[in-house]
Amino acid sequence: MGNWRDNLRKVRAYVPGEQPKVNDIVKLNTNENPYPPAPAVREMLAWFDTDQLRKYPAPEADKLVKALSDEYEVPENMIFTGVGSDDVLGMAFLTCFNSDKPVLFPDITYSFYDVWCELFGIKYETKKLDPSFFIVKEDYFCENGGIVIANPNAPTSIEMDPDDLEEIIAKNPDSVVIVDEAYVDFAEHTVLPLVNKYENLLVVRTFSKSRSLAGVRIGFAIGSPELISALKNVKNSYNSYTMNTLTVEAGVASLSDRAYFEETKNKILRTRRHMATRLRELGFYYPKSSANFLFVTHNRIPAKIIFQELRNRKIYVRYFEKPLIDNYLRITVGTEEELDKLVAALERIVSKYV
Ligand code: PMP
Repeated sequence: MGNWRDNLRKVRAYVPGEQPKVNDIVKLNTNENPYPPAPAVREMLAWFDTDQLRKYPAPEADKLVKALSDEYEVPENMIFTGVGSDDVLGMAFLTCFNSDKPVLFPDITYSFYDVWCELFGIKYETKKLDPSFFIVKEDYFCENGGIVIANPNAPTSIEMDPDDLEEIIAKNPDSVVIVDEAYVDFAEHTVLPLVNKYENLLVVRTFSKSRSLAGVRIGFAIGSPELISALKNVKNSYNSYTMNTLTVEAGVASLSDRAYFEETKNKILRTRRHMATRLRELGFYYPKSSANFLFVTHNRIPAKIIFQELRNRKIYVRYFEKPLIDNYLRITVGTEEELDKLVAALERIVSKYV
């Protein structure tokens, strides 16, 4: 009696950054964009006819796929969409990683990868980063059942040399190589053009960071028509209607305003430069960031103390209590005003402990 508990799937879930319930927090803990979505998104919400919600959405989000196809100049049959890039990545793991050989990814990377592997029963092996947190390309030249690389990597903020990343893709024709480009709009290089050269490459992106639409949940993947068709098959074996009608419209509206996208992205890049200089002056070290966050460590004060002290001052940043990175903080680039508040708080913390 009562043995139903034995039949429950026991999983170790991914723990997302905290979403505070109050509004007076300087929130630099989940790499959201500090600027509002494109004005076209607000306009769309004003004209949106709610009668459309009576009907099921288009299962393949055609209107969004068409807009993405125009924006990235790839045919529609090379695009797959999902509910944030987490959904796209989860589907991609389920679709592409079906080998008895282990899937490879770095030991320090997006902490959802091992969670999906465990949920889906995918064998995996992690490869150490070098002491400066760089991915060692040679580690990915062995036999494997697939590869996933976040580029820029998270939480390190470091982008790989594009030739090295291409070498990994080229040397693995028998595996699917997923490149998670969640932060690529803040970086220098993308591997997107390589989808025309390598049929085994799947590039995954999101509207959550550079497009200020984390709350709407849009992610997409670009890859060879064969890979995209396999992804759609798996998605349609699980849930046909992942993208809702309003989300599709929000995505299309966001893509319609390239000037706004560039303007807000450039503001973030400017603040990232200021943030780097000001934190360096306070005794912080960090790798050169190619993302909308800095991965920092202080020369005198343990990260955990700084995390708690900032939190007491209503400034949230991300702290990972994990080997190798437990003396680092991941701090999102916010507005200039938020940077001023962060620096003022850090000045007090530094003078208290040093
Ligand atoms: N990939 C990486 C590397 C990330 O940091 C995140 C953000 N947590 C995601 C994917 C998922 O983002 P989203 O589901 O909001 O698109």
